[in-house]
Amino acid sequence: MKVIVIIPAAGLGTRMAPMPSALDAKTKKPHPSKQFTDLAGTPILIHTLRKFAGVDAVKEIWIALRENEIEGFRERLSKDDVLKKKKIELVVGGEHRQQSVEEALNAVSAAADDVVLVHDAVRPLVPTEVIAEVIEAAKKYGAAIAGLPAVDTVKQVERTAEGAIVKATIPRAGVVLAQTPQGFHYSVIKKVFDEAAADGFMGTDESSLAERSGHEVAVVMGSPRNIKITTPADMELAEFYLQASSEPAHRR
Ligand code: C5P
Repeated sequence: MKVIVIIPAAGLGTRMAPMPSALDAKTKKPHPSKQFTDLAGTPILIHTLRKFAGVDAVKEIWIALRENEIEGFRERLSKDDVLKKKKIELVVGGEHRQQSVEEALNAVSAAADDVVLVHDAVRPLVPTEVIAEVIEAAKKYGAAIAGLPAVDTVKQVERTAEGAIVKATIPRAGVVLAQTPQGFHYSVIKKVFDEAAADGFMGTDESSLAERSGHEVAVVMGSPRNIKITTPADMELAEFYLQASSEPAHRR
């Protein structure tokens, strides 16, 4: 049994830089897409890859990138002492996250009970323990995600031109916020992706594809630090967490 990781990293990240074609005020170059933005001097995607490269069970990492970013990133990888030792493959991603994952999944060669983990490129602070727990649960149940219990009260709303109107309150105890990694036996993820493609279904995570196919998905405890960097404010938080994790334990 091996563990294969798929990292969708082909998004534009328009919420980081509202106009991706605009020039960065400091560098005067086009804004890098979100996953290539520097976090404490290192691109977010490199932080993310180092987390998975550090897990022994992980044998291969497949990254879906925008076509014009592949060559530059291949060169960047060849200069990284840790990452150049892992088998890392680059594929061209698609227009939506699900298509990017699908492109990588189609390129992978795996046995039915190998575990495939999918992880957002823009969650660089995922704790190693969360990765290990998702792998274990995926082995046991065939499908598992990291999830965080909701601390806020969750409202169902109807969007309006001015904002939104509350329609109902969803009992918090029955809610978790889905994170990644999400892990599956290869046979499961392949089947649910094929079914989604046949039905034209597009989901925002892999779990939703498994759910609609009637597969039970286990939840393991995620981490509040495993944030998905989406806006500039998230970068400040990520820098803070990164700094805190490099300080001696008694100061954390
Ligand atoms: O778009 P969203 O913020 O949900 O992106 C989550 C992850 O999916 C990011 O790592 C992003 O790069 C990736 N993605 C992708 N291909 C797309 C859109 C998003 O790989 N077409």
